[in-house]
Amino acid sequence: MDADVIVVGAGISGALVADRLAASGVKVLILEAGPRVQREQAVVQFFDAAIKVPECAYPNAAYAPHPRSDNPDFYLVQTGPDKFKSTYLRQVGGTTWHWLGTCLRLVPDDFRLATRFGRGVDWPVDYSALEPWYGRAEEAIGVAGDSSADLGSPRTSPYPMPRIAPSYLDGAIAKGFAASDLDVRATPQGRNSIVRDDRPPCCGNSSCIPVCPIQAKYDATVHVAKAEAAGARLIPDAIVAHEAHHAAKRDAPSGTALLLDAALKGRAFNRPIDVSSTRAGSIPGTHTIGFDAAGETITLTHTARDRSGFARGALEAARWVHGRKGWFTMKDVLGI
Ligand SMILES: Cc1cc2nc3c(=O)[nH]c(=O)nc-3n(C[C@H](O)[C@H](O)[C@H](O)COP(=O)(O)OP(=O)(O)OC[C@H]3O[C@@H](n4cnc5c(N)ncnc54)[C@H](O)[C@@H]3O)c2cc1C
Ligand code: SF4
Repeated sequence: MDADVIVVGAGISGALVADRLAASGVKVLILEAGPRVQREQAVVQFFDAAIKVPECAYPNAAYAPHPRSDNPDFYLVQTGPDKFKSTYLRQVGGTTWHWLGTCLRLVPDDFRLATRFGRGVDWPVDYSALEPWYGRAEEAIGVAGDSSADLGSPRTSPYPMPRIAPSYLDGAIAKGFAASDLDVRATPQGRNSIVRDDRPPCCGNSSCIPVCPIQAKYDATVHVAKAEAAGARLIPDAIVAHEAHHAAKRDAPSGTALLLDAALKGRAFNRPIDVSSTRAGSIPGTHTIGFDAAGETITLTHTARDRSGFARGALEAARWVHGRKGWFTMKDVLGI
């Protein structure tokens, strides 16, 4: 397929961009390193998991591994005494599958740490520049909150949904603090408190991390689905093969690209392989197989410097076939 824009990664960042572009009529291709995940399977895997860490509900695909919070040295290369012990996900929808959905805004002082507290640096923008965009993000995610509560971040728009009803425990804690000068307030949540966006309200299953069984909690598959409905094409498990040839070459993909595609499919790769072609200028012939991951890409490239190599191969084959009868390929010529 041809695309105007290729979005790499189907987490919340990629999904929102893809949705906005596709809804505006732009031809979007989303390449995601990891697989599509079925919610029911994630719930079963979570129930079966011996260690209930955030990523326990999801496949750790060999071709797109994700960090493990119970083993900081799995996948992440870490040096120094303080290891990062959290995780993220590489699959369609990305890390929002197991985020908590807490949607607190920064407060104005966060933008001027150097000026106010002599720490770090000030942001190049202030809170008021971001304020309308916070509102749009809350609208897109679907945030439930108490619009009348003062959380230190002034608002020009209400939360799109009323706050999540307090739990029994919330009530007990509020009661305990009633005599103090501390307040118990609702945290804004990317969870439905009412039916919204064709998703049900939260019913308190309390498994937001790692998975909401009923998708009351927002995850980025919401916007992946919207982007696809608006015409974007998503390729999960994206292994990318690319070839480039001169502008006069008529076939695309090239015969070699198709052979590479067949060879990959005949080996370990039974997942979709994206084959793309460039026809430009006088490029003699370049073939690249790419294995894409979050932190790195492995590519294997064959570049023909000029077309004389192909002519020499044809002459070699003509000499070899002289006096032989039958059906042969270059494998026979080269004895491989
Ligand atoms: C346990 C946990 C709880 C959290 N809770 C909260 C919370 O309550 N509130 C909050 O605001 N934040 C929370 N976060 C953080 C938040 O979830 C992330 O910041 C956010 O989801 C990141 O979104 P993203 O789209 O930028 O990246 P990701 O979700 O990581 O998505 C990136 C995607 O791109 C793909 N990708 C990357 N490189 C390539 C490549 N080369 N080719 C193809 N695909 C590629 C990956 O496979 C992945 O699917 C939490 C995080 C964790 C781990
Ligand atoms: S239904 Fe459960 S898992 Fe889903 S958002 Fe509500 S508490 Fe979280």
